[in-house]
Order: sequence, then C-alpha cells, then structure tokens
Amino acid sequence: MDKFEILKNTFGHSAFRKGQEEIIDGILAGNDVIGIMPTGSGKSICYQLPAIMLDGITLVISPLISLMRDQVMGLIQAGIPAAFINSSLTPAQYSKAISRALAGQYKIIYVAPERLESDDFLYFAMCANISLVTVDEAHCVSMWGQDFRPSYLRIASFISRLERRPVVAAFTATATRHVKQDIIKLLGLKTPLKVNTGYNRENLFFGVRRPKNKFSELLDIVNEHKDQSGIVYCLTRKTVDKLYDDLGSMGYSVTKYHAGLTDKERRDNQDDFIYDRKSIIVATNAFGMGIDKSDVRYIVHFNMPSDVESYYQEAGRAGRDGEPADCILLFSPQDIIINKLLIEKSESVRGDVDRETKAELGKRDFERLAIIEKYCREKNCLRRFILNYFGEALKDDCDNCSSCKTEYIEKDITSEAAAVISCIDESGERYGIAVIRDTLKGSKSAKIRRFGMNERESYGVFKDKKVDEINEILDNLLDNGIIYQTEGNYPILRLGENARNITRGVERVFVKTEKAAETKKAGLGLREPAVQKGTSAGPSQHSDGKAPCEPPEEIIEVDTSYESVLFDELKALRKSVADKAAIPPYIVFSDRSLYDMCRRLPESPEEFLAVSGVGKEKQKKYADVFIEAIKDFLSRNPDVVKRTRIVDVGAMELVEQNKDGLNISEEPITASGLAESICLQLKTTSGVNKLRSRIFEILEQNGAIVSYRDEENKLIRDITVNSEEYGVILVEKVSAKGTRYKNIYLTPKGQRFILNNIKETGETN
Ligand code: ADP
Repeated sequence: MDKFEILKNTFGHSAFRKGQEEIIDGILAGNDVIGIMPTGSGKSICYQLPAIMLDGITLVISPLISLMRDQVMGLIQAGIPAAFINSSLTPAQYSKAISRALAGQYKIIYVAPERLESDDFLYFAMCANISLVTVDEAHCVSMWGQDFRPSYLRIASFISRLERRPVVAAFTATATRHVKQDIIKLLGLKTPLKVNTGYNRENLFFGVRRPKNKFSELLDIVNEHKDQSGIVYCLTRKTVDKLYDDLGSMGYSVTKYHAGLTDKERRDNQDDFIYDRKSIIVATNAFGMGIDKSDVRYIVHFNMPSDVESYYQEAGRAGRDGEPADCILLFSPQDIIINKLLIEKSESVRGDVDRETKAELGKRDFERLAIIEKYCREKNCLRRFILNYFGEALKDDCDNCSSCKTEYIEKDITSEAAAVISCIDESGERYGIAVIRDTLKGSKSAKIRRFGMNERESYGVFKDKKVDEINEILDNLLDNGIIYQTEGNYPILRLGENARNITRGVERVFVKTEKAAETKKAGLGLREPAVQKGTSAGPSQHSDGKAPCEPPEEIIEVDTSYESVLFDELKALRKSVADKAAIPPYIVFSDRSLYDMCRRLPESPEEFLAVSGVGKEKQKKYADVFIEAIKDFLSRNPDVVKRTRIVDVGAMELVEQNKDGLNISEEPITASGLAESICLQLKTTSGVNKLRSRIFEILEQNGAIVSYRDEENKLIRDITVNSEEYGVILVEKVSAKGTRYKNIYLTPKGQRFILNNIKETGETN
C-alpha cells in the first residue's frame, strides 16, 4: 500500500493536512525531522504512517502514561499492532511485551523517557530492528520550555548506543526559537528537515473576560455548553475543590483533578471525564498533558495561568478534532498576586539547580508572567498577540477572539486619570491599590487615617463613584501603562513615564470601553450562531467587516435541526459501543466523524467508508451498527432528504448553480459578510475566503475600488469616484485600538452587482 492508501484505509482520511506529507516523505527518505505543529493538527500520523511503511519498529518516546494508553488504543482500533512500555505494567506484562516486541509483533511501541535508561530496555533496543525514533512533546528537552524533563536529555545518548542509527523525528506544538535550537542540539538531530506549520488554531475562539463574579460567569459558560466536555483550570487545589463542590452541589456532571488526590482518585476522575461519564473536569495544571480527548468543546481558565506557553498548551486541549471550541480566560488582578506567590514558592523548592540558574529561572518566570498579564489586558486581536509571542505574524485580525468581537467606544477619562495620578503622587508612591482606591473614595477607615491619606487633596474626590467604577478607572490606567504595580507580594502603585503629562494638561487619556454586553458571548457555541446567520441573508455579524479566519477545510456546520437530533442519537450510540469495548467514546469516533455521518447519511458500507475518520478497520467494526441507526432515523424522519452536495464543491461553483435563488441583505454588508452569507445559504463552508477575494477582485476589475500596499506592506482598499455607481460605500468604524478606520460595504445594489457579475462572467473558480 502506498501512503495515500494507508491514509484512507488505516486512518480514514482522504487528504493530508498541511505539513504531514512533507514530514512523512522526509522520514521515509531517511531524514531526521523536527515538526512544529499546533495541537490537533495531526502530528501523530506524521510518524504513525511511516511506521507502518518502514521495515522495523518505531519507538515513540512520550512523557505521559495516559497519552500512551490512548494512542495505543487508537492504533489498535485502526488495526495497527502497537504497545506501550511504562511503569504501569507489572513485571510479567513487561517481559511479555518485550518478548513480543522482539518477535516483531508490534510496529509501534510507546515508551517513557525514563525507561530508556534501564538496562533491560537498552538490551531489547540493541537487539531489535528500530527504524524510527519519534520524540513527542520534544520541547521537554529544553530547560527554557515550560515542561522541562531531565530524562529527555538522555535520549541522544540512548540513540547513540543503538547499532544502527534510526531516523529521529521530534515533534512539539510549542517551541520558541530558543527551544527549537535546544531540541535540535540536545536530541542530536542530524541536518533535520524543519517543518513548521505555524501555531494558529483557527477553530479555537479566544476570549478574556474580567467578570465581577467569576463563578456566575463560569456558570454562564458551562450552561452554554450543556452536555459538552469542558475543562476548568484553576491555579490552586483549593480553588479546584471549591468549584468542584459548588458545581457538584448544583447538580452539574463534574469531576476534579489535582496533585493532592491519590493516584487512584486521579486515574478514576480522569477516566470519568475521558469516558464521558462526567462532562466537566475542574483541575490544576497537573491535568492534561497527554490527554488526547479530541472532543473537548471548551476550556475555562478560572485564573490567569503563569505564562503564555502554558496557557496556549492548556487552551489547546480544546477542539483537537478541528471542530469549533471556546477558550475563555477569566482574569482578575488577584490572579497576578497568586501567580507571584506560586513563582516564589517554586523558586524555593528548585533544589536541583545552582543558585545562579535558580535566579535566572525565577527572573524568566516573572517576565513570562508579565507577558500573560499583558495578554489579559489586550484590547487588540488576541490571536495575533499569541502568535506574535511564538514569532509568527498574523496578517488580518482574526475576528474569532473577544477583542475582535468587541465593539469599543472611546471615552475621555482625563480628569479621573488626573485625580488618580495626584493621589498616587501625594502618597509618595508608597501604597498599594487598596489604599489609593479608599483614599479617592473618601474611606473613613483607620488605615487611611493612620497613613494620613485623609489629609490629602485627593481624599474623597471620587466619593460619589461606586467602588466598581473606581476599580474600572484604575484598571484602565493600568492597562494603558499610565500607572503600574511593582513586583512582589505587596505591589505598590507607581506612576508611569507619561503620567505627569496628564496632570500638566499636556496629554489626554482616552480609553476604550465595551459598547454593550452584546459581545460578551461572542464565540461561545460558535456552531449555533453560524447556523442562525445562514437562515437569512441579513447583515453579517462581523460588524467590523474584517475577514473571518478561514475555517479549517473540512469544517462542517450542523445546519438543520435534524442534524443535531441525529448527532445526539449517534453520540449516544457511540457511548454504548465504547462502553461495551471499554474504550473512550472519542476513540471509537471523533465528533467530526459523527458530524460527517449526519451530513452524508451513509446507508451502505461503501458510503460509510467516505466518512471522515473511517478507515477499513473502523468500517468493518462499526459500519453496520451506525448505518442501522441512520436508517432507523431516516425511517422516522421521512422528510429528511439526503444531500449529495457537500463541502467538496467550492462556493463559487455553487453560486453559479444557485445564483437566482440567493437572498441579499437589505442593509449594507461587507465583502466578508456577503461571502459568508452566500456560503451559509449554500450550506458550504469551503471557499468563504476565496469567494471574498473574488468579490474584491470583481470590484477592482470594474474600477469600483482600488487597492494598494502602504509603506508597511499593508493592503489598503479604497473607493473610487465610480464606487457609488456600483453600490459600494465606505463606512467609518472604530477599531479595537480606538483608532477610526473606514471599511468597504456593499449596498443591496452592490450585492446584486456581485451576484450578476459572477453570473455574467461565468466565474466558477
Ligand atoms: P496532534 O497530535 O497534532 O495534537 P492528532 O494527531 O491527535 O493531533 O490529530 C488530531 C485529530 O486530527 C485527530 O482526530 C486525527 O484523526 C485528525 N487528523 C489527523 N490527520 C488528518 C487528516 N489528514 N485529515 C483529517 N483529519 C486528520
């Protein structure tokens, strides 16, 4: 079988994703490889597929036992002989596994890095024919990564002791430049093929919220994701226990995970989550590395985590199946204090490094903390912030994060800012936020009197404001760097560089405040809003008219109620099949496969094989039972007409076929909005961006707009004297930064022009 046949027959996929084929070809040609690919992008196939094609055994070095168990279960399901060797095996199981491995019964063996050091394993490795060594989570080799594991440092020497040097392939989802260099050097990769598909996870919505009451915000999020799997991360065990108790007493299906539980409790709780017996898991960061559950639909960070790497890794556990998922961070200034305490605590227990390194590591921890705090205060595109952090540029704002989804209005708070600055100045920049706030409020507390703050001119200037309002002003000034807090356990409020320009009247302070609560829920349950939009060609919800992120190629919208009913039925069937086989439901089929079944409604084994994620083995095992359920559903719902037109057909082609039946919007609408609206009416998500580009192309070809690049190579589009004739207008907007900008909109006339133009010119691609 060639690689394409294996891809379909074994793994059930019809095409390679970005980076996969290149890596597979590289490995098969005998090259070492370093693959930096985001979570959920399909790293496993990059080494599992060559493992099947190569002669000998593939060793996969992986840091966590739970991950190995999952991966091996998945491989066996797909018909690939695989095993894991780690401390969870009894001595008898271990010897059996080794003797089977020596007899060539496994193609893939997962092993923990610590195991490489044991004599008996080394003996096995020296006798066996190992053609590929894969290092998963390769960033663990670097001290500058967030998950440093000393045992990873010994991988290179293990490989050097093998008789024949195998190909070495290293994979990670997060590696800064520094970490990448470490991976190549410390694993001893030889002129590796470097493949970096970028960090972007387009299916994830990123949101930061600063709620007054985090728990009620959490309830909102959980309720919006009813019956879906979600992880709630907290900084401390105490918070985990509290949330677990509170959610549990309210009747939510919840479990918990932290290092204070016994091994058994942790294992059981994790399994409850993975096997869909509990839908929410509240956890510290001890939970998750190596959790492969692909259908986690939301991740809430109840506290700000310690750095962007950890955040992106934890948030990245959502939506591994490529379906939309939400990552919401609930921020409060208190989180900064807790994190600082945790850093100080971890410094004191770092026993394995010398003092200098300890100090250096601590310094880096604080630097990383400052960056994640900046993320929490960011009002521009959050995805861009994260990607920039990993050294990647994002051309357009993503339109799939809370900053992009928030419409801001500008407010002049110069006089309030001046009052705060004077108060901090009068205090000699000696006090923390609480004293300053209480002084401004005119508190009569003993503390304020003791510090003499009741004698100051600024005392009580905000007496008519609510405490929340004062906090908001202080927060805004912190966000803008006009004031800042010092490090340490008792942070002091200090004045930023330009603060005195404000009291001198040289500068004014404008802040962006959210226009309305409408944006708060943006992104949540992404699937549903997208569906509602499709029912009419109303104005796009992308009010700023920016291009949406291109959805992953095969993303499938559940676009009629029948599909969601069938989805629930298939989900229940998946659970019962999985329970019988004692494997997690997502190993039987991912959510994506179920959605694809809803869309394709397969009624024969051949049709079933076309479903995403169905290979020959899964066809053999599951076609009958799932087809029966689908047929049964169809017999109960005779109105459901099987659609043959699916996403494989491009949007342009569909416009051509359906142009006369398409609705247009009464309101002016952006090019993105028009493209989305058309695609939703046509029930396709493939080609939204292509269609949008074509709309601009048509406008430009007809002289309705012009486009050029500015000095920063940014693409600018503008109207011409002819624009109005074509129904093209400019509308002024305020960006997240608070700057005004103009965007091109199409009136109904403009929209009709586009549709007719596609028709007249017969453009089909
Ligand atoms: P990673 O290890 O990068 O986090 P996985 O290897 O676990 O990602 O893959 C994530 C999901 O993507 C899995 O459900 C897998 O079946 C699916 N997948 C991988 N490659 C493809 C492909 N070429 N086409 C469609 N789905 C794929």
